[in-house]
Amino acid sequence: MPSKPAKLIPAKLIPAKLINVSRLPPALFLLASLSPLWAGVAADLDQEIQHDTLDPAQCYRVIDLNFSKEDVKIYLASGYLVFTKPVRGTHLGALFVASADGGDADVLLLPPTRSERSSLAMFTNSPNLEEHFKAAAFVFTDGTGDELLAQLQNNPAAKKSPEMGGLIGDRWSSVLVNLMSSFETRVVYDVLSAERDAGLFYMAVSGNTLDDFDILYDPTSLDQIQVGKLGYRNNRTYFNTWTAFQARSFRHGAKRRGAIYSLDDIRIQATIQPDLSMQAVTQAKLTIQQPEPRSVLPFGLSPDMSITAATVDGHPAEVFDSESLRSNLIQATDDRQFLLVADAPLAPGVPHQIEIRHQGAVIRDAGNQVYYVASRGTWYPRTGGGLANYDLTFRYPKNLSVVATGASDPDRVEGEWRISHVKTETPIRFAGFNLGYFRSVVREHNGYRVELYANQQVESALTPKTALAATPPVVDPFPRRHFPSPGAPSSPPAPGPPDPAARMDQLTGDLLAALDFMTEEFGPSPFRNIAITPIPGRFGQGFPGLVYLSTLAYLDPGQFPGLREPSEETFYSELLEAHEVAHQWWGNAVVPESYHDDWLIESLANYSALLLLERRKGEKALDEVLDGYRAHLLTRTPAGRTLESAGPIVWGRRLESSLAPDAWRIVTYEKGTWIIHMLRRRLGDEKFLAFLRDLASHRSISTEQFRQLASRYAPGPPDPDLKMFFDNWIYGTGIPAVKLSYTWRGAKLSGSLVQRDVDEAFSAYFPVEVQAAGKSQVYWLAAGSDPVSFSIPLKSPPTKVTLVDADCLMAVAR
Ligand SMILES: [Zn+2]
Repeated sequence: MPSKPAKLIPAKLIPAKLINVSRLPPALFLLASLSPLWAGVAADLDQEIQHDTLDPAQCYRVIDLNFSKEDVKIYLASGYLVFTKPVRGTHLGALFVASADGGDADVLLLPPTRSERSSLAMFTNSPNLEEHFKAAAFVFTDGTGDELLAQLQNNPAAKKSPEMGGLIGDRWSSVLVNLMSSFETRVVYDVLSAERDAGLFYMAVSGNTLDDFDILYDPTSLDQIQVGKLGYRNNRTYFNTWTAFQARSFRHGAKRRGAIYSLDDIRIQATIQPDLSMQAVTQAKLTIQQPEPRSVLPFGLSPDMSITAATVDGHPAEVFDSESLRSNLIQATDDRQFLLVADAPLAPGVPHQIEIRHQGAVIRDAGNQVYYVASRGTWYPRTGGGLANYDLTFRYPKNLSVVATGASDPDRVEGEWRISHVKTETPIRFAGFNLGYFRSVVREHNGYRVELYANQQVESALTPKTALAATPPVVDPFPRRHFPSPGAPSSPPAPGPPDPAARMDQLTGDLLAALDFMTEEFGPSPFRNIAITPIPGRFGQGFPGLVYLSTLAYLDPGQFPGLREPSEETFYSELLEAHEVAHQWWGNAVVPESYHDDWLIESLANYSALLLLERRKGEKALDEVLDGYRAHLLTRTPAGRTLESAGPIVWGRRLESSLAPDAWRIVTYEKGTWIIHMLRRRLGDEKFLAFLRDLASHRSISTEQFRQLASRYAPGPPDPDLKMFFDNWIYGTGIPAVKLSYTWRGAKLSGSLVQRDVDEAFSAYFPVEVQAAGKSQVYWLAAGSDPVSFSIPLKSPPTKVTLVDADCLMAVAR
């Protein structure tokens, strides 16, 4: 006798993990509950998906039904599997429930690399996933549903069980449809484009010991397999990635589908109203990059923007625009996806004209007439990180100023409106703008046109009466943002309102010095027009030719509204502007190949700023900053692990989890800076600078290309191809504590190095400085978990033998 589904399914199964409506800001919930505004094939299909239900007639008693999706193995030992009714001939969902009398199921996954196994162990206490479960929900656009159903239909032993199907359907149909609708845009896209090879497989598991978690296989992702779970900390929701890696067939050479299309000649005409709302028309040349014609095109856009009309080649196009919160959370993107559906398939390889009208509130008011752009990279529809030329026109109230990426014509005034027009000088990844009531300085300097803008007042958060409670505005996270550690301000600000342009002359001088220094070291920037503009908040961001600089950097340090640690003064006064200027080279001229390579851009920008600091203030200033970074990296999380151990730097944003919210930022910026510093010490100053200059002539760079190029400048053995260096510091984790012992006898310095706090496999060379007879020399010596001996001929007794921790990310053990 089957029991009721209520007993079969653990009460906390899917509803708790669904979209977590209670944790969403009200505005998002409202958007999520709106149905699409547009009639058309995508909207019709969406309606069918929304009304899809579990089909009792397709409920099977399953015994030992085993299947796999790439590395994921699923064993349904005993229970019931119910499928949804077909939509356009395909089954998009299914629900498994274990039978009451000891029914069971298993999911098994063995991550292919050591670092992935240790990541999984960090979250689940086991390096492999082997979990029993009583219930699971599936969403598939890759045909798995149809295959499973066919398998059951052809198996005489698989008995249908419509009564159980009815019970399960009554209780769980809406849950499954909710789950499907959290992938809504993707499911609609996949069904319309009928590309099963690019379809996804998703599984929500209610595990016996691991509780609810997600498994996703998406062949269009860089890491096709992702496993993780929603996590909460301090009122924030995280998607904790337990493991993410290339699926088996891709590890064995299968090629991932490339971009569906490219965009170029992007022309945006934007009107900014006195209430700061924006209406824009974005036109672009779109070229299909796939062999087959396409009529459905995915785009990204800020959730603050909505679309009012679109055409393709002059014909009205359907817009399918619906929030897909779960998939956004898993992919950690800031924008949301919408679909453009052309009335006829677009031929590949030839340009098509698209026009999208959109409007919204991407500009926010920080008080006292200080404004900021909240969706800096997604205020217009775009895709991926492709390079394009831009032509931007802004129309706005005439007493405001707008500054944008590119070379500008002189502004025009028409009645109450001011009109600004800019064009990019070279193809770029993102176009940005800023606006405000500005005062400005303009300089022509060594082939650059430089503009520096400051606000006329400080934002509310920086006025004395509110400064103590100041929090930065909540802005969307964005890969190239740089900001110091969050926390509560500790010291009171100086009395009186701070001057929002106190350091304007200083900033102008520093900007020119930074441009000169970087031009000399890396070659001229392709962006000859560079504007520095203020942004309320504790960060900066470097768009091509347009820098957003924290309003704190404009203040006299004596008027900072409370610093959390002394290094912050250096950060705002000495490093932030140079870091963002360096992004003109690293990030804008040289772009990262994928998100795995974003660390390169941030680390190089930060190290460039430190090189300039060192040039101005000496090596000690550089060492102090690096010491501070080392201390941050060795900070322990509540679970007792160091922040650095969250994972290899190439994992990017996935390092940010509810276990270690700071890990992504600290590892990317601070360990990354250390990596570049150690590379410099490995290559020597002359070779290192020649390497950077060579690197600056590349258009895009991956971590492996970076290693290969650096190895051309490496001095030879040991580790001539830098593979060991990269395996430890870039593809691995660990900051060793190293202990040096030595004796001098018979014209020989003998001793050993031993390392602690790192994995057995960690293997690096450590700098040991030896002073004798008035001379000093640095030897790079190996260490291990067992002492590794060394012997150096040395005629006179040494006056100093010491590990140089200024040159290596390690702790010196005594
Ligand atoms: Zn940066």
